[in-house]
Amino acid sequence: MTKHKIALLDGDGIGPEIMAEAVKILELVASRNKLEFDLVHGAFGASAYFEHGHSFPDATKQLCDEADAILKGPIGLSHEESKKIPVDMQPERGALLPLRRRYNTFANFRPVFLPKGLAHFSPLKPEIIGDGIDFIIIRELVGGLYFGAKEAGINSDGKRYVKESLEYDEDQIKRIARVAFDTAMKRKKVLHNIHKSNVLKSSVLWNEIMEEVGANYPEVEVKHILVDAAATYLCLNPGQFDVMVMENMFGDILSDQGGGILGSLGLMPSACIGPDKAYYEPSHGSAPDIAGKNIANPYSMIGSVAMMLEMSFGLVQESRNVWHAMQSVFAQGYSTPDLSRPGSDLKMIDTQAFGDLVASELQKL
Ligand code: NAD
Repeated sequence: MTKHKIALLDGDGIGPEIMAEAVKILELVASRNKLEFDLVHGAFGASAYFEHGHSFPDATKQLCDEADAILKGPIGLSHEESKKIPVDMQPERGALLPLRRRYNTFANFRPVFLPKGLAHFSPLKPEIIGDGIDFIIIRELVGGLYFGAKEAGINSDGKRYVKESLEYDEDQIKRIARVAFDTAMKRKKVLHNIHKSNVLKSSVLWNEIMEEVGANYPEVEVKHILVDAAATYLCLNPGQFDVMVMENMFGDILSDQGGGILGSLGLMPSACIGPDKAYYEPSHGSAPDIAGKNIANPYSMIGSVAMMLEMSFGLVQESRNVWHAMQSVFAQGYSTPDLSRPGSDLKMIDTQAFGDLVASELQKL
């Protein structure tokens, strides 16, 4: 029997609640496909810091090293709670960025998908949504401003100062460019390159390399758009996008806007792929405002499982089945509260009920 070891990093806030639903689906997938998933939980994030004194403990590093894939829940605390943890140990700096660095997960795939039948979830008008929303953001994940040198201190005038640098070398840009062009080749062969070359020199190099790599993909039409304009077009005409590629911070911000136009960050799964290892996580944070209430939307977490099934284990059909099962639950009028709108006649269900319904739809396929 094929066996895959999966590290489960529940994380903080709503993390454990949505992870429980993902585990439900993983266990079902294993039994349907005569596979064995060795599911092992590891401490990660603020909860790990409070329990073990480190937000990415050594035992979790070892677990991740040994795992065939990693499924990660969101991490982080509310603004006020974060202050209880030293700055360098706060979950993003102490756990998330080190995880990305450790496995060099440079390619982040963030699908932004809403079929026409579910257009009522979106705050956009039906005439803007047209046939639905369906594009993918490809975000460079281990370079740029988030990974550049940082310093803070007191300058010669006695003033507090901070300096953070946005660094890329050409190899880093080339490899994400190839991922973006390869993805465009599998889709509509249109690639939107998002940049800020009118201000940032990093974008000038980024664009140069996009064009060099693009020369090897003559079938792909490349459209260059400034990041600020792209933010507007995401609201005014999301249908023009199919594959978008961008540097780390732009991708962080625009993908949350992607969640916004779908109607909730709870609809945003993602895959973070490195040369030897991949991890999968919802794009959103730990949602401290709704944690512990059993009302979080587990779609992003279960969608991340679907991405893992396809991208790490080659279970393409089963991955499609999981997507299909989730869409069927929505199509029957069910929804978690994040997607409710005034006057909508959706049947509200909680986190666990959503997971149960997805499992029962999956069993029908
Ligand atoms: P957030 O993404 O946690 O929440 C923003 C809003 O979206 C909230 O109203 C929340 O309730 C809602 N939301 C998010 N996911 C949802 C879901 N699955 N179902 C229903 N509603 C959902 O952003 P934030 O509040 O700015 O950040 C909270 C913490 O998360 C911070 O500590 C932040 O640093 C961290 N964070 C972590 C990650 C990660 O783990 N990759 C990503 C983003 C933010």
